[in-house]
Amino acid sequence: MDCIFCQIVNKKRKAEIIFENNKVMVFEDIKPIAPVHLLIVPKEHIASINDITSDQKELIGELFLAAKKMAGKKKIKQSGYRLIFNIGPDAGQTVDHLHLHLIGGKKLLWA
Ligand code: 5GP
Ligand code: ZN
Repeated sequence: MDCIFCQIVNKKRKAEIIFENNKVMVFEDIKPIAPVHLLIVPKEHIASINDITSDQKELIGELFLAAKKMAGKKKIKQSGYRLIFNIGPDAGQTVDHLHLHLIGGKKLLWA
């Protein structure tokens, strides 16, 4: 299996894992763009938001619940943070395993 995030989920590739349960995993982005930059991924392989199905609604909700929990853990829940899915080439998606970026810890510029 050559998906790098599946490798991280299966502990075949090293990552700084912050949280996991049976459905999601959270780890530090290898090239952070802010003081806090986490990636929240479903353990199940889904390529992008373009590929989600209605039976994965609950799983997608789990990603946001994990994001809220991690914002609390990193103490940026009140200062604020951004959650981003990059989808496809124009958005610069480079890893084809669904991942929610949690970015914060500084004042973020918009566009
Ligand atoms: P995308 O551009 O697809 O939205 O985001 C992919 C993210 O994955 C990038 O921010 C990149 O730094 C991160 N990334 C790529 N390869 C690895 C890796 O092997 N380990 C970790 N922890 N992050 C990675
Ligand atoms: Zn994968």
